[in-house]
Formats: sequence, C-alpha cells, structure tokens
Amino acid sequence: MEQGPEAQYFSFLARGNHRIQRCDACGEAVFYPRLYCPKCGGGLSWITPVGTGVVYSATTVRRKPEQGGDYSIALVDLTEGARLMTRIVDIPSEDVRIGMPVRFAGVGPDTRTVLYRPEA
Ligand SMILES: [Zn+2]
Repeated sequence: MEQGPEAQYFSFLARGNHRIQRCDACGEAVFYPRLYCPKCGGGLSWITPVGTGVVYSATTVRRKPEQGGDYSIALVDLTEGARLMTRIVDIPSEDVRIGMPVRFAGVGPDTRTVLYRPEA
C-alpha cells in the first residue's frame, strides 16, 4: 500500500530531505502535500526546492531560557512559489524581517520542522 502524500513528506524529512510537489500539468509548486494540483487537478511529482526564499511573515515564540530561549517561526515564500512554515535559525528572532532572503538550513532535530537561515 502506497503512503499518502503527507506521510511521504514526513518520511523525506526523517531522512533529512526537504521536498515539495510540482504539478505535472501546469507546473504549479504545491505545499502542503496533496494528491492533486489545487489549481488544475493535475498529478504531482516531488521536487527538491532550490533552497532559497523570502520571509512572508514571522512570529517570535516565547520560551524560557532554560527551555532554549525564544525562537522564530516564519512563513517563507520559496523561489518555486510555494509558501511554507519554517523555523528561522542563526539570527535573533527580533531581527527576522518580512522580505528577508533566507536559505534552507536543514531539517530540525524533531524531523518535522524545516530550518531556514538568513541568506549570507
Ligand atoms: Zn496544475
């Protein structure tokens, strides 16, 4: 039995691979994982994003220092066109700006979070 698209997505992440989908018919980049293109109903294939994007919105998650301190959650618009929830690393959360270019920085230790850092 084949896994559903969401399970496939998380099994890619568990192996350290970040994937999104692209429509075989119209080329639309798709995230969150699904069976068919939301735009045209076409079939989808997995692709590896080039790894660049821009912060669309950002939120600071407050956490006590002994729990690791504050961190930043952001919606990132990938160069491919899809938008996804990420965690921004290597920068104080208050310095994350809308429109800031970011680059893929790996999969988080929970293997469910995608990490991005400011583009150097
Ligand atoms: Zn399509």
